[in-house]
Amino acid sequence: MASSCNIRVQHAFSGEEIISIAVPATYSVYDLKLRVLEETTQIPAEYQTLLREGDVVPLRDTATLHDEGLDQPSVVLFTSREPKMPDLELWEACQGCRCDFREPNYSSCTDLSEKVCRCTRAPGRGPRLSRVKYLLRYLSDDVPFLQSVFERLVLAGGEEAYTLVAEHLAQDPRINVNAVGCSCSVPIFPSLLEVALDFQHVDMVRMLIDSGRLEVDYTLMCQRLKNQTTDHSEEVWSAAGRFEDSRGDRQSIVESIVANLQTRERTISKFIRQQGWQSEPFCKLYLDTYQMSIEHVFGDAIDQISQYANPSEFPALGETLLRRGHGGRRKGAQKEVRRR
Ligand SMILES: [Zn+2]
Repeated sequence: MASSCNIRVQHAFSGEEIISIAVPATYSVYDLKLRVLEETTQIPAEYQTLLREGDVVPLRDTATLHDEGLDQPSVVLFTSREPKMPDLELWEACQGCRCDFREPNYSSCTDLSEKVCRCTRAPGRGPRLSRVKYLLRYLSDDVPFLQSVFERLVLAGGEEAYTLVAEHLAQDPRINVNAVGCSCSVPIFPSLLEVALDFQHVDMVRMLIDSGRLEVDYTLMCQRLKNQTTDHSEEVWSAAGRFEDSRGDRQSIVESIVANLQTRERTISKFIRQQGWQSEPFCKLYLDTYQMSIEHVFGDAIDQISQYANPSEFPALGETLLRRGHGGRRKGAQKEVRRR
């Protein structure tokens, strides 16, 4: 048995040569398609058909070149086919299953966290970027569909193959990397970034940031803070008070609220710091904008807290407030916590 096969591959109809190459005889026909012809022809292995010259039966993917009698210098004819159902094939490649294909049961109200499937994916069977690119050629007009493929990739996480495809889609102008869930979520409009982090898909979070297309929405941050704290300003006082080494100045109070108030933005901010990403442009903008939102929305409360929290100017404040009754009691208690 020859250790390698000399094969000339040519287009079946035009006879034009694609490549002449020596490949190991132990290669399967699929190896030849995948490792040699996919790159040369830009047609993914799944959509290639190979025939021995003068034969009518296609070479079998699983057979070795030796099994197919290609030990002698041979001519192999190449044809390609179009995908029969490019949308379904893309869906299945990217998600690993066909569940919720085209999301027929979802209303506009669907929360992003529901856009996941519980099926177990076969390891090592993630999508090949070359195949995804090929399928995308057939789906150029179907923007909402592509968006849902992308969202589900991000929300499912998974091995590197999935991240690579998501990374490719994230650069596609048809894709919105800033997509959000609906306004009836609490807090409103959870973003892809936030929900991906809920699921601990660190690679996808990194991919979203690396896309360079994430935006920081100051107005939405402010709106969420207002929604969360209407009639609940204790939350803000308590967030400001829990800071152990408070210097008692305005800046440290703002920092305490940023660090302690339970928000989705806090989760993202904390994660950015844990990862050491805080000086990257998007991350820095995110952290700064969140702090600005806190200062803007809680400006009055912060002013009050900083007055009460300054022990040199208001040495007897704790006692005074305690004597005053309800509101003062709470603030006095805060002060005690802060002093610890
Ligand atoms: Zn499924």
